Amino acid sequence: MEWTRSETLALAAPACNICLGLGLRIGRHGATHPCNCVLRAIFRACFDRFRESMSREKYMSRVTLDPLPGKDRKGSWGRKDEEFAADFCLISKRTLTESEHRIFKYHFLLGADWKMCCDRLAMDRGNFFHAVYRIEQKLGRVFRELEPYSLFPVDDYFHGPAKNVSSCLAPRENVVPIRKLGARQVLVPDQRTA
Ligand SMILES: [Zn+2]
Repeated sequence: MEWTRSETLALAAPACNICLGLGLRIGRHGATHPCNCVLRAIFRACFDRFRESMSREKYMSRVTLDPLPGKDRKGSWGRKDEEFAADFCLISKRTLTESEHRIFKYHFLLGADWKMCCDRLAMDRGNFFHAVYRIEQKLGRVFRELEPYSLFPVDDYFHGPAKNVSSCLAPRENVVPIRKLGARQVLVPDQRTA
């Protein structure tokens, strides 16, 4: 995807001295890259939504019917809150290294503060916060660039239009019961020669 100023401007930190509040960095050959302050803002928006999903009473969980593309498919029932939380955790696990994921789990999922994390992980404060920044930037980018359904913007995840995509799983072939095949078509390996 291409990052544009109209997208990053609202997310950038006004006091950021790298992008000067514009949200974009100009790289080599004039290529534009999102500033780290934008990536961290995206991560925080998704993390806030994740916490909201998790803190809500379970009886308030709602079931939604989402239309699916294709003439034979009417729609699919789902629980968006739980799906968002599962996506948030699974994408993070897939994206981060093992040591980064350990910090992510303690600090973001289990809610340990920096002192507890530093004790548990035998890290100093500076390295811990550098790692947290790196994790936020890495995940912020993936949450936005994910295809076909990105986690950010969060409203699009919950209320956006269905996209014309199909499952990457191979369609199941029609299985013909073995008794309908002719006797000659059924190959039975000879136990004595096999
Ligand atoms: Zn910035």
